[in-house]
Amino acid sequence: MLRWMLAALLLSVALSCRTAAVGPVNGVAKMDTSPSSVPGTRVVLLGTGTPNAEPDRSGSALAVVVNGKAYLVDCGPGIVRSTVAAYRRGIEALGSEKLTHLFITHLHSDHTLGYPDLIFTPWVLGRDVPLEAYGPPGLGEMTDHILKAYEQDIRIRIDGLEQANSEGYKVNVHEIGPGLIYKDDNVRVIAFPVKHGSWEHAYGFRFETADRTIVVSGDTAPCESLIEHAKGCDVLVHEVYSQARFKERSPKWQEYHRSFHTSTVELADVARQVRPRLLVLTHLLLWGSSPEELVAEVRQSYDGEVRCGSDLDVY
Ligand SMILES: [Zn+2]
Ligand SMILES: [Zn+2]
Repeated sequence: MLRWMLAALLLSVALSCRTAAVGPVNGVAKMDTSPSSVPGTRVVLLGTGTPNAEPDRSGSALAVVVNGKAYLVDCGPGIVRSTVAAYRRGIEALGSEKLTHLFITHLHSDHTLGYPDLIFTPWVLGRDVPLEAYGPPGLGEMTDHILKAYEQDIRIRIDGLEQANSEGYKVNVHEIGPGLIYKDDNVRVIAFPVKHGSWEHAYGFRFETADRTIVVSGDTAPCESLIEHAKGCDVLVHEVYSQARFKERSPKWQEYHRSFHTSTVELADVARQVRPRLLVLTHLLLWGSSPEELVAEVRQSYDGEVRCGSDLDVY
């Protein structure tokens, strides 16, 4: 009886939160641990870090969860353990055997080092269908190399005493270009090119569902294509670096960041044009500043809702 009352309470809290496109304040206990059977769309941040190996921020990854189904974006280091952590907080869609759909923005290592983990660990934990992986040209080759590297592991798990299933480690690779790249009953996913320095193929993604539109920037310097595809979205999850700390970087690194990434000041300008209901900062290049200072930098010239993402935030 008590269990049902608790479930009903969680459900009503989750439903009442659905229409408010406002996520948790940083550091405060997460408000939405709704059962995955609750209809509607959520964004779950799985990794808000960068190549800088910060213990509290896993590598780049998030999940768009729609009607109990998870669509993963990027697979930085730590992704599988983050999905387990989110699952334990009530996001059932992130149960290991359900991790079947992945969308990769670009092939930088901080977005793909968790790819082998996502191929093999959920398989070991019971996934019995191939992973469907969507990403830029080159993903097929990367996948082939990973499978080759682990061929002894695959053989021993299937032929040995584990008697692992023979499907769950496989990957169906879908190399993408700009436009509609995926569609099912829950979601339409549109890829758009972004400007990430010398990467020939780097994308952002727009997820359209029955109740929300979520846009994920991927890694990018400010670009028109993102503004065009993000206009009026409910949640814009965007990468960012601290403009204040950027000034202390060497000229060489300044040149790199200017060409590959987006500063707080530039992001405020992007957000003024996009006007998302909620802007969530991720892929945080803090360089010693705090999340609060980062948000304050954006707010200097943007008056919309802004949250600095933390791992396992739900929006
Ligand atoms: Zn990158
Ligand atoms: Zn990155």
